[in-house]
Amino acid sequence: MCSMPARTALNTAQSPPPSRSPAGRQGGTVGIRTWLLLLLAAALLPFFLVQAGVYYVLCLSQRKAGMEANLERAQAVSTEFGAFVADVLHQQATAGSALVLYDQEPEQAEGLLAQAVRNTPCLRHLCFVSPEGRVLASSEPGLTESHLPALPAATQSSHGHEWALSNLFTDPLSGQPGFAVLQNVRDSRGALAGVVVAVVDPPKLDEALPISLAGTGTGTVALIDGAGRYVYVHPWGNVRPGDSAAQPAALLANALASQGQVATYRSAPGEQEWLAGLAPVPSSGWLAEARRPAAAALAPLSTGLLHGTSLFALAGLAALAAVSVFARPLVDPILNLREQALGLGGGQRSGRVAVAGPAEVRDLVAAFDHMAREIDAREVQSALLLRELQDASRLLEQSEARYRSLFETALDAVLIAGDDGRILEVNPRAGELTGYSQQELLGMSLLNLIPAELHTRAAELYEEYLCAQRIEAELALQHKGGQVLPVEVQAVQVPPIGLQVTLRDIGARTRAAKERERLLAEVHRRAAELDAIITSIPAGIVIIDSSGAVMRMNAAAQALLGHAAGEPSRPWPEQMATGLIQQPDGRPFAVEDLPSFRALHGETVQGAVAVIRRAEAELWLMISAAPISTANGRLLGAVVSYVDATAMHEMQKQREDILGMVSHDLRGPLTVIHGQAELLLRWLSRAGLTGNERRSTVAILASARRMNAMIQDLVDAARLESGQLPMEVRPLDLCSFVVDHMQQMAGMAESERIEVIGAEGLPPVLADAERLARILANLLSNALKYSPPESRVTVSFSCEGGFVVTAVTDHGQGIAPEEIQHLGRRYYRTRSARSHREGLGLGLYICRMLVEALGGRLWVQSEQDQGSTFYFSLPVAE
Ligand code: ADP
Repeated sequence: MCSMPARTALNTAQSPPPSRSPAGRQGGTVGIRTWLLLLLAAALLPFFLVQAGVYYVLCLSQRKAGMEANLERAQAVSTEFGAFVADVLHQQATAGSALVLYDQEPEQAEGLLAQAVRNTPCLRHLCFVSPEGRVLASSEPGLTESHLPALPAATQSSHGHEWALSNLFTDPLSGQPGFAVLQNVRDSRGALAGVVVAVVDPPKLDEALPISLAGTGTGTVALIDGAGRYVYVHPWGNVRPGDSAAQPAALLANALASQGQVATYRSAPGEQEWLAGLAPVPSSGWLAEARRPAAAALAPLSTGLLHGTSLFALAGLAALAAVSVFARPLVDPILNLREQALGLGGGQRSGRVAVAGPAEVRDLVAAFDHMAREIDAREVQSALLLRELQDASRLLEQSEARYRSLFETALDAVLIAGDDGRILEVNPRAGELTGYSQQELLGMSLLNLIPAELHTRAAELYEEYLCAQRIEAELALQHKGGQVLPVEVQAVQVPPIGLQVTLRDIGARTRAAKERERLLAEVHRRAAELDAIITSIPAGIVIIDSSGAVMRMNAAAQALLGHAAGEPSRPWPEQMATGLIQQPDGRPFAVEDLPSFRALHGETVQGAVAVIRRAEAELWLMISAAPISTANGRLLGAVVSYVDATAMHEMQKQREDILGMVSHDLRGPLTVIHGQAELLLRWLSRAGLTGNERRSTVAILASARRMNAMIQDLVDAARLESGQLPMEVRPLDLCSFVVDHMQQMAGMAESERIEVIGAEGLPPVLADAERLARILANLLSNALKYSPPESRVTVSFSCEGGFVVTAVTDHGQGIAPEEIQHLGRRYYRTRSARSHREGLGLGLYICRMLVEALGGRLWVQSEQDQGSTFYFSLPVAE
């Protein structure tokens, strides 16, 4: 299945196969038939040449005979025309003698001349002209007395005759061309008496030349005058009397000078050829010509040649047919053989070739058969070989592609070098690692990539390589930019090329190892620090994993939680005291309320209070917890700290006891003082005592009230801190609440200085009314206390982002900027307040705690000597 495409591929790589048609044979080769035909042609050629030679000779003699026949005819014309002229001269002589000798009357003379014209064929008319040229008598009466001066002179011809023949001229009487025969007439004394002029009509010369004209056939007969013009032509054809003769002038001159002349000529280039004979007309300067077309003269010969050639051609065709027929047994097997050879070349199986023809051809066919069988056998072998070759080639290509891909994309630099160490091939990574381009690396020595100080080491490694044919070592690379890079070198032998060197950049690995070491040391250091901290810290520290299992706990935690050393860890450290750990109010902790559980859910817990009640004692704990997360937010566990707050709780309890005692024990007498002072004041009023007694009583009353307020502050502060000041929040209209509050304050000292600036559309706030009243009372009393007696105090409202902000503004002494930040702390008072005013410094502290407990915020803006504004915000009720 695979062999045929391979064969096609081979065929396409070679020259195209020869055409299957015999006509398509390679150029320059000649077929057997052609050879035979050429041989035949060579055999017939002498016969053809002989026939052509004979025809040529015959042609020459035929032309010569034709010309001589024409010369004879021309001489006959000349003779016959001469006889005609002699006849005319005779008539002229007769008429002239009669006119001169017998002095005829004009009428008689004309009659005589007319009789002569009638006697002589071809004559137009006769005249008798005086030597001066005057027509004395004429056969045409109209001519008498006319003047013909030129004619007598014609009689003075050089040849010494008494007669002359004129050239062709236009007859004045008829206006037609004609020629004249002139005859001198002498008197009895021999003097010239006149000239008889006979004007001949040329076309009528047919009658004068009957013998010559007979049998002209395709030829013509002509008379040419001394001026070389046709006087007479038979048959006329296109020629007219007076036309210039067609013959060359030299031929005419030669003919006049000789007895006769033969010639061939053409009337004009391209015209037919004439075979001509020219003979002079004696004593006239005229020529007689007879001519015949050469083609007509040679026609019989041509016909013979045609017949001969036809026969020759027929014989040739017959020979051709014979060659074709006789060559067939020779040619057909060869053509058949050729077809088989072409088919074999085109990949077809050869069949057996028919064995026929001569012995040599049969031998050839047998040899071809043998060759075809050999080719078939070898073809099968070739196909198998080709298939194996293709499979191997495909595997090789796949392997090459895989190798190339690995080579190109390898993360390590790969260099292939010859045995001399010159680099032959590199991958892209090699370029990146060395800083050289791939092109620059080719041809470079491997040694150039190694720092000079490591050449000795490189030589050692090479020795190792020569022994083991493989090495792996750490070395350094000289980068093009000058840097020295640590690399791991691997060299393996790649026969027959040389060796393959793989370089791996271990710079990053080395750096990473160093960094890892540094980090490990840092981790160890920090772990040691942490260990020290955890061990030394008095608080109990427990670290739990994400499932709540205890990973680590210090001794303090073990002591606090009652965990024995070596006891297996349990989840939720607080649960180690299960049943014992409780909330301050005595309720047990639910798991989800445990600080460790909350921390593992991302919450940071601070200062949660728990109590462990054991038989021997009660342990109060302050618990804080925070999640431990990775940088990307993955929860690893939590750290929980436990601080023993038992002592603090005891102190707080003691303080509360003291405060309870103070508030109870001090308030009792103070209430009595206050009541007695009020009673005293009423008595003094009734008694009309308004002097010192009343002022002293008012002072006692005011002091009692202030003391009561201070005791209240102390008690409230203590309750707030111990979380014993419960809140009952409900929606309140703040503005209305403040106005009501002001009305309750009416009558109190300086309350008239307070102005409430109402605001429309304020949303209700969530607050506890009693605590809110306390906040307002504290802020307003401070504003009144720390501002001049006549100045005003304003209360205003605004709504800001889900909160209603209340502002209490006074125009008092203000607060120094550096002191503002300390306001709101427990017992903090400004310097000026400390020296001039009474107070504990708890009012703002209580305000802040209450506002924050209600979900709001307390802050102040103040400018010294200008006044202060205290703001507090409360959340808007939803
Ligand atoms: P006190 O009993 O001293 O007034 P507070 O807690 O009410 O205690 O106030 C704390 C301190 O804040 C005051 O001692 C005073 O110095 C300062 N302060 C409070 N309100 C004003 C105000 N309106 N103008 C100036 N200073 C004030």
